[in-house]
Amino acid sequence: MQKLQAGIHHFQANYFATHRRLFEELSEKGQRPETLFITCCDSRVVPDLITSAGPGELFTVRNVGNIVPSVTRGLVGGVSAAIQYAVEVLEVAGIIVCGHTQCGAIDAILQPERVTHLTFLSQWLAESAQIPRLIAERYGHLEGEARRLAAVEENVLVQLENLRSFDFVSRRLEAGSLKMNGWVFEIATGAVHDYDPVTEQFVQLGEPPA
Ligand SMILES: [Zn+2]
Repeated sequence: MQKLQAGIHHFQANYFATHRRLFEELSEKGQRPETLFITCCDSRVVPDLITSAGPGELFTVRNVGNIVPSVTRGLVGGVSAAIQYAVEVLEVAGIIVCGHTQCGAIDAILQPERVTHLTFLSQWLAESAQIPRLIAERYGHLEGEARRLAAVEENVLVQLENLRSFDFVSRRLEAGSLKMNGWVFEIATGAVHDYDPVTEQFVQLGEPPA
């Protein structure tokens, strides 16, 4: 806690002091973020840091496993509410679902028996219960880390599909006023991979980290 308090002081004396006008403008005019960023709770994934985004740029939704509950499953919750607000009120131009390597949620989705005693967690991760079957069908030849990465990637793609189940998302996708991307952040290297629906591959964005 003391470290965080010192951090607040550092922020106010440095970043805030040099960006005072920006915060005043955001306060007066409200937010107009261009992107809804959906990612995992994992503390190693820091959306504003990895995208160099400033205050007011990313409308961020975080949850265990960067999951978007499908409308068809009927689960109403904070994630669906935030998506509706971002798309219908803030009118974001893009939605990014960002998974990451070494995701504990993915490990639990692949081995649900490991979390059966954690009632809330296992119910939540059941939203991605189709992942183990998908991995067995499509990536049966992969093992270890490669299999885990395939599960991280497939989980991102499932959430993009679930996003389409919201009528206000599918309408804007069809109208061409909304774009969706699926990313995977690689913790050890800082690399970000973006799903290319044409080649059906995740392709590295930007310059490869040195
Ligand atoms: Zn995670």
